[in-house]
Amino acid sequence: MTSACGEPVHNSVIMEVAGLLDACGMAVAPGIVLIEGGRVRAAGRPEEIGGVSPEIPKVQRHDLLVMPGLVNAHTHLDLSGPGPWPPAGADFRGWVGRVRELRSKADAASRRQSIERGIELSLAGGTTLVGDIAGTPPDESIDLLRASPLRGVVYIEFFGIGQGEAAASRAMQAACERWPSCDRGVSLGLSPHAPYSCGPTVFESAADLKRPVVTHLAETQAEVELLRSGTGDLREMLEIDIGVWGDDVGVPGCHPVDAVIAPLQRAGGAAVHGNWLEERHIADLVHAGISLVYCPRASASFGHAPPMLPTHPWQALHAAGGLVALGTDSLLCLDTPDRISVLDEMRLLSQRDAIPGDTLLAMATVSGASVLGVDSAKVQIGPEASGLIGCPIGDGFGETPLALLDRVLARQEPPEWVLPPQKVLKQDIPTKF
Ligand SMILES: [Zn+2]
Repeated sequence: MTSACGEPVHNSVIMEVAGLLDACGMAVAPGIVLIEGGRVRAAGRPEEIGGVSPEIPKVQRHDLLVMPGLVNAHTHLDLSGPGPWPPAGADFRGWVGRVRELRSKADAASRRQSIERGIELSLAGGTTLVGDIAGTPPDESIDLLRASPLRGVVYIEFFGIGQGEAAASRAMQAACERWPSCDRGVSLGLSPHAPYSCGPTVFESAADLKRPVVTHLAETQAEVELLRSGTGDLREMLEIDIGVWGDDVGVPGCHPVDAVIAPLQRAGGAAVHGNWLEERHIADLVHAGISLVYCPRASASFGHAPPMLPTHPWQALHAAGGLVALGTDSLLCLDTPDRISVLDEMRLLSQRDAIPGDTLLAMATVSGASVLGVDSAKVQIGPEASGLIGCPIGDGFGETPLALLDRVLARQEPPEWVLPPQKVLKQDIPTKF
């Protein structure tokens, strides 16, 4: 392959596609994208792209809508090996027990295998940025993600209630001293697991350390009961199954959101799930600048979706101006064994709840990038894009970009890479952390 001036043209291609769509203003159909040297050099309507060397090969893909690579703002890649299936339904305590057993049996080699599979499945799902929760020890997650083409944040998970709080805080401090905040496109974040498994000083320590912070919040009714009254299924799990509940554990006597909102606000953190928020929390969370990562299929697996909840609170939060991104949670909650993708979360919300496609695309790209502290240019069809996906549209050629997206969301196929994400070789990812 050579250019008009005789210089070699590496990895250059012009693609004519049914449409180009992102959440930053690009919406054309049909569209053309010029990819050169692993980067988007030009994109737009066919008549807008001129002066391209005739030597550059043209590919016609009128069956694809091209969009930015997707952001999975909450996943657990180390749970991508064999695991408890189907998901627990109402038996959250039993499911946690099976996951704990799985993790306790895993050695470094099997953890690596699971994480590598999780990375492969994420890439198969068109993912370019992840918010990954790393179990303990987190070494494999950090090393493998930093060596992969994925970008984002690895949040190390911590547990500690009662007397265990001090050890969790010390471990957080040690992790921050050991790993740089950002390397090869992946930042190091902290995840106090949840308000029922981490005491208040653990959340305060996370906020002190100035790293990205995320926590599971208001996931189950049992969590609300435990925080309010110190009773119920989760109390039994902590006391009997795990053996960490004792007289030294304080009961906050309030809803989980009220228990952690102050340190989470101080950390600029995000909350995952939020299935059992109360109406008053919507304004509180928006005011505190706390974003929400919603995992629709995980919520459905555990019975936190219609008809159990008439509507999930994410819509109220979004309508009030809150930032809401999409996550998948672990592969153990998903019905797509061949991929881990928020495209399938978009499909569920489109098909089940009739959420508009442009809202979903923003949640799956720019909102997710914002939660992870990554520049939205990485999820925009432009020179900084860290990947572009093509999604099958059937025979929709000629329709508007949003009509093409509706077609994508009505189908089930995985996306394909039009421009795969590149491995990040140096510390090139300016983040807010
Ligand atoms: Zn999770």
